[in-house]
Amino acid sequence: MKIGFVNLEELKKSIRDDTILISIMFANNEIGTIQPIKEIAQIAKDAKVVFHTDCVQAVGNVKIDVSDLGIDLLSMSAHKFYGPKGVGGLYVRSGTNFEKIQDGGHQEKNKRAGTENVAGIVGLGKAIEIADENIENYNAKLLKLKNYFIREITSKYENVKINGDLKQRLPGNINISFPGIDGEELLLKLDSQGICASAGSACSSGSLEPSHVLMAIGLESKYARRYTSYNIR
Ligand SMILES: *Cc1c(COP(=O)(O)O)cnc(C)c1O
Repeated sequence: MKIGFVNLEELKKSIRDDTILISIMFANNEIGTIQPIKEIAQIAKDAKVVFHTDCVQAVGNVKIDVSDLGIDLLSMSAHKFYGPKGVGGLYVRSGTNFEKIQDGGHQEKNKRAGTENVAGIVGLGKAIEIADENIENYNAKLLKLKNYFIREITSKYENVKINGDLKQRLPGNINISFPGIDGEELLLKLDSQGICASAGSACSSGSLEPSHVLMAIGLESKYARRYTSYNIR
């Protein structure tokens, strides 16, 4: 049974002469798994390949030191750490080769055309400032709640299955399979008790397919279709 980590040997083997970029999620949005980013960055560096990480789940939840970890490019989205919707950020290590994807005006140092969304940018900055100030207390609180929740649910229901790794995981993420119980039905019942949970990521809402993340870590589809993901807020 896999728990959702990138296989570093496989990563090394998959680098070719024409590889210019390695892009790996910092933390998974479904099962909360935090990848061995420092090791991955080192592999990229050794191969002289730029390393990008989708840090959308991790920024605001995990302390991140781009220099220590060796990250070249890092993307984030403000609304995932209580900032405004519609604004994100890309950290670019100086000296990293960078090609803009939007042509037009040269403002913003020729990195992105278009007039900048000042309110959004200020909102993102303020949100990250607040998140950073509170990160340790917030994480300690989330961890306590998460451990309590897991302890209670696994002691009361023998068949439930916690997906992903329990240690290298976002503090506020739980992903559980309830074999034999219909996910949607469970959600309705939880909702009537005032508990918010989801049976899939927002990106795949409406889809009846089992989660590709759970399938990739080797869950049978009966587990992957009947799971509930809960982000403590
Ligand atoms: C939410 C999310 C995104 C998408 O960000 P949006 O700004 O909501 O479009 C990308 N990657 C991960 C890991 C996410 O959790």
